[in-house]
Amino acid sequence: MGMQSTVPITVAFGDGIGPEIMEASLRILLAAGARLEVERIDIGERVYLKGSTAGIEPSAWDSLRRTKVFYKAPITTPQGGGFKSLNVTVRKTLGLFANVRPCMTYAPFVRTKHPTMDLVIVRENEEDLYAGIEHRQTDEVYQTLKLISRPGTEKIVRYAFEYARAHKRKKVACFTKDNIMKLTDGLFHKVFDEVATEYPDIENEHWIVDIGAAKLADTPEIFDVIVMPNLYGDILSDVAAQIAGSVGLAASANIGEHVAMFEAIHGSAPRRAGQDLANPSGLLLAGVMMMVHVGQPAVAEVVHNAWLKTIEDGVHTYDIFVEGASAQKVGTMGFAQAVIDRLGKTPMTLKPVAYARDGTAMQVPTPNPTRPARKETVGVDVFVHFRGSPDDLARQVKAVSDDGSGLNLIMITNRGVKVWPDGLPETFCTDHWRCRFQASGDGKAPTSHAVIARLLQRFADAEIDFIKTEHLCTFDGEPGYSLGQGQ
Ligand code: NAD
Repeated sequence: MGMQSTVPITVAFGDGIGPEIMEASLRILLAAGARLEVERIDIGERVYLKGSTAGIEPSAWDSLRRTKVFYKAPITTPQGGGFKSLNVTVRKTLGLFANVRPCMTYAPFVRTKHPTMDLVIVRENEEDLYAGIEHRQTDEVYQTLKLISRPGTEKIVRYAFEYARAHKRKKVACFTKDNIMKLTDGLFHKVFDEVATEYPDIENEHWIVDIGAAKLADTPEIFDVIVMPNLYGDILSDVAAQIAGSVGLAASANIGEHVAMFEAIHGSAPRRAGQDLANPSGLLLAGVMMMVHVGQPAVAEVVHNAWLKTIEDGVHTYDIFVEGASAQKVGTMGFAQAVIDRLGKTPMTLKPVAYARDGTAMQVPTPNPTRPARKETVGVDVFVHFRGSPDDLARQVKAVSDDGSGLNLIMITNRGVKVWPDGLPETFCTDHWRCRFQASGDGKAPTSHAVIARLLQRFADAEIDFIKTEHLCTFDGEPGYSLGQGQ
């Protein structure tokens, strides 16, 4: 992107307070010299109510694909069923794999229990439990699939390190639950350790998510950049924004290989709409991130510093106004004017920002190709819907498999707990069982798809209700499945 050229961006004014805060934010950015060419699209409530289930019109995608930069005000999702989340649709359709959310405090000017907190959460945005692949399998049991991929993880982890380097941050922490989910979260942790070695200038550490979350809530100042799989990041980025004391001030960027989207984290606050009351800061700070992204860091810096000065001068909208502490209560446009009046000024107490001026805009990392491993099928887990005791099930299943099927019943588990052989009568059982078959007891002898298919045919003939199968494979001799019982 040339330093002097005008950058086309797609802008949605949204619903509720959206139009006011977008107008205020654009006014400030343009006053600071932003070279932007605005393409407006319609999204949100009106579009939903016109019959679009995702709240976005087909022509809007053309604009987004052309400009590749989306500046989005909050929208209102209409009540009732049948409406899909616009954010999830945009994120998935455009491959916005990274959600970047800075969470910092502005003490003593905005109240917080954590005056020195200043961290950035980098959340993986496309995988994990958000694939939306769910099934009801039995009367009693429902399932969702948690998918973690090596390229997806590599992209997000490398993005976190690149972000740290570009923003002069010193440490990247990773939160997972790999003591329980040894394969999925284990992969995330492993890739984190691998990628970390490429960034010797940046410290790295791993936390089990439960204690990491507790530390984040208690002593957020010990963190700098934190990278997380989707679900943990979803939950903890809200916790972090809340404890920073500034949900109304927080911004986020959704970054993809092709397109990026910038927005405030709050919603459309319909009760405050049309009254010139809303705080435009979250959307403005999203605009600051956007200016860095489009290669105009000098504009980002001028706007951000003027905004800090405005907050520091006590010029506050109602949501952060404190009688006696704030100096002046202003509305949306009054706040925008106050920021414009301070363009070129820097804060005295709050730390001024400095964005790189050397044109080293962040590159979105592309993952290395995954090396194919030597894969061997050594067995199968057959899940069945069954009412009865573990011993009854074992008897029926062995009758099907023992007689020359080529696969032996090794164990039966219920919700991951081994109930056969040698189960305990105390174990609570549902109607959802996993029967593990292997070609040999040590799990090393190979089997085949044909053998597994024949086993399933025997299940069908015996009218045992199998509901799904998972093949047991080794990759370069290492088991690609959890071995024992869950914890
Ligand atoms: P909300 O964030 O709109 O409001 C929560 C509270 O914060 C309200 O008291 C509101 O007045 C206040 N608030 C929020 N932003 C403010 C601002 N900029 N200035 C001053 N006060 C502000 O959350 P909600 O009420 O749960 O949701 C309202 C609508 O927004 C819903 O339809 C929801 O689906 C939608 N929503 C949209 C997005 C988005 O577009 N990204 C995100 C969250 C919620």
